[in-house]
Amino acid sequence: MVLSRKLAKLEKIANGLGYKIVPGKENEVIPDDKIIKVNTRQKPIKRAWNAAHEIGHAITIDRCVTEIGKKALTGAEHEWPALEAEFRAWRETDKIIRKLGLYNSDYLKYKHHCIRSYYCLLNKV
Ligand SMILES: [Zn+2]
Repeated sequence: MVLSRKLAKLEKIANGLGYKIVPGKENEVIPDDKIIKVNTRQKPIKRAWNAAHEIGHAITIDRCVTEIGKKALTGAEHEWPALEAEFRAWRETDKIIRKLGLYNSDYLKYKHHCIRSYYCLLNKV
């Protein structure tokens, strides 16, 4: 499956959750509007990783709010509620990336780069 087909598949997964993927400057999920913004200026493979990750947030968001509280979405990025939300989203991201056949060391390297950045924010406080 070529990358453009994988991106189309991600779009389908998002649609199945009631979300729409739109181009944006950042990668983010806006649950109230059921929108996933994906930075289109990044390389297609990064776009796929980030779309999958934001879908991971879309999948886990309701449970996060129920079990952790609103801080999972709105709290400071370095605090545990947001970190827990990130880990839950990454678990779903792994599953989606595996399904797309994109699970490899490049993806894992990127994932850990992101996870490390959450903790680097913590150290700046
Ligand atoms: Zn995230």
